[in-house]
Amino acid sequence: MPADLLADAERCVKCGLCLPHCPTYNKTGNENESPRGRIALVQAWASDSLPASPRLLAHIDNCLLCRACERVCPADVPYGRLIDRFRAQASPATRTPMALRLLLGMVHKRPLNRAAQKALALYSASGLANWIRPGQIGRLLPAPGQRRGARKKLYRTMHRVKGEVGLFKGCLGELLDPATIDAAITVLNHAGYNVHLPAGQTCCGALDLHHGDGDYAEKLARTNIQAFDGLALNAVVSIASGCGSVLREYEHSGFAAKIVDISQFLAQQDALAEIELRPLPARIVLHSPCSLKNVMRQERGALQLLEMIPEAQLLPLPDACHCCGSAGSYMLEHPEMAQALVDDLLREVCAWQPDFLVTSNIGCAVHIAAAVKQRGLAMQVLHPVTLISGQIRRF
Ligand code: SF4
Ligand code: SF4
Repeated sequence: MPADLLADAERCVKCGLCLPHCPTYNKTGNENESPRGRIALVQAWASDSLPASPRLLAHIDNCLLCRACERVCPADVPYGRLIDRFRAQASPATRTPMALRLLLGMVHKRPLNRAAQKALALYSASGLANWIRPGQIGRLLPAPGQRRGARKKLYRTMHRVKGEVGLFKGCLGELLDPATIDAAITVLNHAGYNVHLPAGQTCCGALDLHHGDGDYAEKLARTNIQAFDGLALNAVVSIASGCGSVLREYEHSGFAAKIVDISQFLAQQDALAEIELRPLPARIVLHSPCSLKNVMRQERGALQLLEMIPEAQLLPLPDACHCCGSAGSYMLEHPEMAQALVDDLLREVCAWQPDFLVTSNIGCAVHIAAAVKQRGLAMQVLHPVTLISGQIRRF
């Protein structure tokens, strides 16, 4: 209902404090590509002063939904909700780009997802992966040899049991970053947690929600809530903040309250206190994904965790660093802006000559890793928990 949109949009006092924090405004200098401008466009559409023309829709589509504007807004404008609702009401579903349709098919249709996993396994085993990594698709492929077998529903700790934790692995985790799922299980088990991976869990719904299909996103939410229901869990940990940020905003408040970024969970529970970590004399840049800092607001956990690695030199990126340009399917739909933003990020990062860049969102990881590879840099891009897992001293 446009009335909902108007109520949210009218909270904006047009102060402009969000403008310096907006990556698309910084790149273009165009007010229509700023949060204030986009809110004004939605406001005009909702009050019947402007039609949803292709130009207006393009300004909205160019938004990364990084929500940096929301974080700094003194009037608490719920910018993310405003744009999601606008898209649901004003954007015809037929506008869905082909790349996104393919991605949606892969994340929602289990046979297609399984087929992609099998194809990747074959591709890796054949050695072709060392030779052919074509274009945009190649950007998303995991390194050869990362594939894993089927997962169990429960991984029991071999230590004194401190609690029960659900692991939300995300629809693309198994396909693109199985190493982080393995690492999460290993670290949680070492820390004394039984780890549950209910088979019924599915996509968090981020792609649908942000592309105007709130009904389908709602259906996925119900499936996930049901999958973890009845397990008496202390928490449901997320290994991708892009998923975690959506799960945290599910309307089922009981489920949403249980969602926590895995690094934040481990840091809050002081879960590594009894785990011996091997020293790592290396320079580590810590990248905080927008979904982790602007939506979940749990970026401290990864820092606290990595500080526990002896001899590691931690280099957190300054707050002024904007979105890397990944932003879900944005990197496929807006490759030029996505490339420009990741170039900015790497310029900053390269000055430190780090050995590792760690990030808590799989989308950011694949986008940054592709750019690192393009430049022929030696820096490794991985999840904080994967780095921690590799440092656990095993006897
Ligand atoms: S969104 Fe918030 S910070 Fe930005 S112009 Fe409106 S009131 Fe100001
Ligand atoms: S969500 Fe990000 S890209 Fe979109 S208007 Fe806000 S700051 Fe700009």
